[in-house]
Amino acid sequence: MKKSFKGGAHPPDNKHYSENRAIETPPLPESVVIPVQQHIGAPAEPLVKKGDRVKTGQPIAKASKFVSLPCHSSVTGTIAAVEERPHPLGVNVLSIVINRDGEDEWFEDYTINGNYQNFSNEQIKNMIQDAGIAGMGGAAFPTHVKLSPPKDKKIDVLIINGVECEPFLTSDHQIMLERADDILNGINILKKAVGVKKAIIGIEKNKPDAIQLFKKKCENTDGITVLPLEVKYPQGAEKQLIRAATGREVPRGGLPMDIGAIVQNVGTAIAVYEAVAFNKPLFERTVCVTGPGINESKNLKVRIGTSFKYLIDFCGGYTENAAKLINGGPMMGIAQKNDEVPVLKGTSGIVVLDKKQADLRSENPCISCARCVDVCPMKLIPSMIATYVEHNFIDDAYKFGLFDCIECGSCSFICPSKRNLVQYIKQGKAKWNKLNRNTD
Ligand code: SF4
Ligand code: SF4
Repeated sequence: MKKSFKGGAHPPDNKHYSENRAIETPPLPESVVIPVQQHIGAPAEPLVKKGDRVKTGQPIAKASKFVSLPCHSSVTGTIAAVEERPHPLGVNVLSIVINRDGEDEWFEDYTINGNYQNFSNEQIKNMIQDAGIAGMGGAAFPTHVKLSPPKDKKIDVLIINGVECEPFLTSDHQIMLERADDILNGINILKKAVGVKKAIIGIEKNKPDAIQLFKKKCENTDGITVLPLEVKYPQGAEKQLIRAATGREVPRGGLPMDIGAIVQNVGTAIAVYEAVAFNKPLFERTVCVTGPGINESKNLKVRIGTSFKYLIDFCGGYTENAAKLINGGPMMGIAQKNDEVPVLKGTSGIVVLDKKQADLRSENPCISCARCVDVCPMKLIPSMIATYVEHNFIDDAYKFGLFDCIECGSCSFICPSKRNLVQYIKQGKAKWNKLNRNTD
């Protein structure tokens, strides 16, 4: 079986800017901004008000539903405001602003509980939700929900995503090199939570050091194997990774659990280990700050709520040619107008492109070359869906698989006319959702 999927693109990986740079921890910022919506699902409800003093790791907002997550303070200080602030999604979101007022005083000790391997799967899932863990590869889906499939869905494999196929990003690669044991401990907890015997760690072949390290460490583990994968974008997308690892196809409109699989990112595995073994909530993560628009690219361990600007300054600031700031990688990330937005639980990278890489040329008409069709990993006809959206035929776009698009950006990348196909598709989904709601 070929360890890949049909379609896909080969954008320049540009990992050299930050590859193999040891993770650094910058000084704590003077203030953090923690949005109550950092995950897919219902926003958290604030538990604090202006003037309250909080410690690092203290809950400051509670989950409002099952598909929701609490938020925790990432510093020690005083609540300066509970108000709407700019969010990396481009909208204003209710956020808790905390001004640091001295030492970093932790809410609990977060020392290891030697008994953690005896916890039941329900205890594990509750601890994961209480720790506020969302998928850290970027999608930010609440982890406890993914680990709780309906009884009729039998899960038999856990797939760990160490692919990091987005150009430029290197933080997952670096945590695999520096925190392999923590990842393996997290995988064992995740296996127990879903009751599976088998876990597969998928890693692209452009990270031979990580593949070698995990293969060696897995020699003595029970049921964990390493799967080297062809280097192709979007190899790390959930459906494509499952296809490559198991040969199974997620059905149209379906979920990985429909074919017995659950996928978790390597960073999420570490967060799960820290939550269950140390009772430590998710208030810090590794972020890659990189690109030709940054003076010194780095992999950083940062507190949630730290502003992009603070981290860019820590990396020596912008270069003269800096042209485009992106939350995430250049293929799936979201361009930012403002660098005063906070790092979220799902922020894997901050990329700054220069004028050449940003490719600011305007789009031209479609020349019907079909290259977008060739690369689409979901076997769609991106040019046609985009044209339907452009002319407001949203029902037709829907029939042609609008919602099967995983927004990987391969079509936009390959298009010789520079058509921003994925942008049209995102607009189409928003329009369809709006129309659909109006008819309810
Ligand atoms: S249509 Fe969607 S899934 Fe297909 S290449 Fe474009 S962005 Fe990726
Ligand atoms: S790649 Fe661009 S030019 Fe070619 S068919 Fe698709 S949209 Fe048209």
